[in-house]
Amino acid sequence: MKKETFVTKEQLEEIVKEYPTPFHLYDEKGIRENIKALREAFAWNNGYKEYFAVKATPNPFLIKMLHECGCGTDCSSMAELVLSDACDIRGEDVMFSSNETPAEEYKKAAELGAIINLDDFTHIDFLEQTIGKIPETISMRYNPGGIFEVCNGIMDNPGEAKYGVTKEQLFEGYKILKEKGAKRFGLHSFLASNTVTNEYYPALARTLFELVVEIKETLGIEISFVNLSGGVGIAYHPDQTANDIAAIGRLVHQAYDEVLVPAGLGDVSIFTELGRFVMGPYGCLVTRAVHEKHIYKEYIGVDACAANLMRPAMYGAYHHITVMGKEDAPCDHKYDIVGALCENNDKFAIDRMLPEIEKGDLLVIHDTGAHGFAMGYNYNGRLWSAELLLQEDGTAKLIRRAQTIADYFATFDCFEEFQGKLQ
Ligand SMILES: *Cc1c(COP(=O)(O)O)cnc(C)c1O
Repeated sequence: MKKETFVTKEQLEEIVKEYPTPFHLYDEKGIRENIKALREAFAWNNGYKEYFAVKATPNPFLIKMLHECGCGTDCSSMAELVLSDACDIRGEDVMFSSNETPAEEYKKAAELGAIINLDDFTHIDFLEQTIGKIPETISMRYNPGGIFEVCNGIMDNPGEAKYGVTKEQLFEGYKILKEKGAKRFGLHSFLASNTVTNEYYPALARTLFELVVEIKETLGIEISFVNLSGGVGIAYHPDQTANDIAAIGRLVHQAYDEVLVPAGLGDVSIFTELGRFVMGPYGCLVTRAVHEKHIYKEYIGVDACAANLMRPAMYGAYHHITVMGKEDAPCDHKYDIVGALCENNDKFAIDRMLPEIEKGDLLVIHDTGAHGFAMGYNYNGRLWSAELLLQEDGTAKLIRRAQTIADYFATFDCFEEFQGKLQ
């Protein structure tokens, strides 16, 4: 499918007058419509709730917007809990799905009244010792081990994943949690990442629903919510077919009616913790071509680098690129699009066929709305970019300013003399 930008060249030219490139830009209209579609897809389930995975896009403006649309937060670190708290999102609107969790983070999660999702069996005791009790509502993360396969092939390898507990530990865990006073139980699992197929969630749901029935039959414990977690992917590449969230919702519903309802468990709530699916397509990285270089290959140097978007360097991930104003020009030039890091993996694209690029052209790197800005880092002294929101009226609003050199040096507060020289 042809990939289009959500912003026009004219809009961008207005925006860059005020905010220099590079920056991440988010699409308010797209985000709101997508959340509506997600919630409609699961509207058949009374207790349905999306807990947005904060790590994907930890910007309070966006998190608040999602909260307005009915989403909670899925947190897994102190900073994410603090961010949620600062956005006035607390109580059972917060899911705490962490792993290797420090004690103070469990304390903070308990203080907020978050639902705690235990990643390990040993954390039952650890949590009890840390906060002095087991909360009435508690969840456990399951890892079935082995290879996770659905009809169209291998999806991922849970047997090699560090997350979750074995089936034996899960059953034993619920028994112990009940003895320790827990009253509402959740079951969570995350078995494959960035799945671009409508089959993943339904297959995962069926596996978990069957487990819920078995837990009731063997332990007499009724699971209150099944958390399908993240993993629903997006079509980064134009050759991919985007997931159809309505179809995914229907297929999960079918599994629910076939497995849970006949077992008298038609009251189980469905939770999701989607990050990439919710935000990914509704963000882009806007950068400008500043250099062209002709050696053994043709290079275009841009003013963004892997410190602003790590996925291509880290995973070899494809991100589509549009040269603004040249959408319909023939893609008859082969380029590597590169940033300024002294690292040869700092390439947004390798051997990409694109229209002829001239210095000064604005490039839009697509699908950076999730795990984009969030994975930014400061290697080579490269700074974080700003984040802007393209509002529904077509104007841009600054939702995080760019990092400054002073921010970069701010942690050297033990060197007053040095700080003085920076001013
Ligand atoms: C990262 C993560 C998610 C979100 O994953 P996406 O691939 O962005 O949907 C959800 N839950 C947990 C526990 C995670 O670690």
